[in-house]
Amino acid sequence: SEIIKICNLKSSVEGQQILKGIDLDIKAGEIHVIMGPNGAGKSTLANVLMGHPAHKVDTGEVTFMGKDLLTMKVDERAKAGLFLSFQYPEEVPGVTVENFLRTAKKEVAGIMPMALSFKKELHSKMEMLNMDSKYLERYLNQGFSGGEKKKNEILQMAVLNPKLAILDETDSGLDIDAIRVVYESVQKLSKADNAILVITHYNKILNYITPDYVHVLVDGKIVRSGDVTLAEEIESKGYEKREW
Ligand code: ADP
Ligand code: MG
Ligand code: MG
Repeated sequence: SEIIKICNLKSSVEGQQILKGIDLDIKAGEIHVIMGPNGAGKSTLANVLMGHPAHKVDTGEVTFMGKDLLTMKVDERAKAGLFLSFQYPEEVPGVTVENFLRTAKKEVAGIMPMALSFKKELHSKMEMLNMDSKYLERYLNQGFSGGEKKKNEILQMAVLNPKLAILDETDSGLDIDAIRVVYESVQKLSKADNAILVITHYNKILNYITPDYVHVLVDGKIVRSGDVTLAEEIESKGYEKREW
């Protein structure tokens, strides 16, 4: 079944069109990877889907879980099951990871999860993520390494159980061990009833996740789609000076 369908999506920021007609269909059970050079519009696509106010939708339609996504408010999008790795705050003094996650779960689910069962759930998910449970007592992101922040985002994803998780890999300086743990976890969180969209320019994540589709985004358009071999082709030839 269909999770999201994007048709001819064009968007502008500060009067300049960045997305120039994106078409993308993602079905339940699928993992999609979007690759592309810097400035292509990858993060813009994620931001537009989440409803970031800086981005104006010029034209196009997005259907998410059968509903018109573009008319939904940001919190409605999250409640409908859209998750963006970077929608969460950087540092929150005085709020522990555990409390933050419990509140985030309440906002999406509508009811506050029971403290004890929620703690149990967190512990099992942290074990999968290879995270020390002492982090639950720490203040959100305060003094966390890049790898710890990233694991936290994946923990949030695990807790919120979204229909579509969009993971924008900006340029995170993750070491290879953190990349492995994070993407092995992402792969484990891929289920028959959800979908995952990973935005990256790192081929090495493909050692840990198995995407069903790889798309190449250049200058605001998806210029090619294929399977994982497309990523290998890019690895060897690069994005520049290519006839797509
Ligand atoms: P990518 O993630 O593919 O590297 P981005 O989507 O971040 O690319 O950026 C695409 C283009 O849109 C860039 O030229 C960038 O400067 C511009 N852009 C993105 N967000 C904003 C913004 N909030 N204000 C101004 N320009 C922006
Ligand atoms: Mg699959
Ligand atoms: Mg980006």
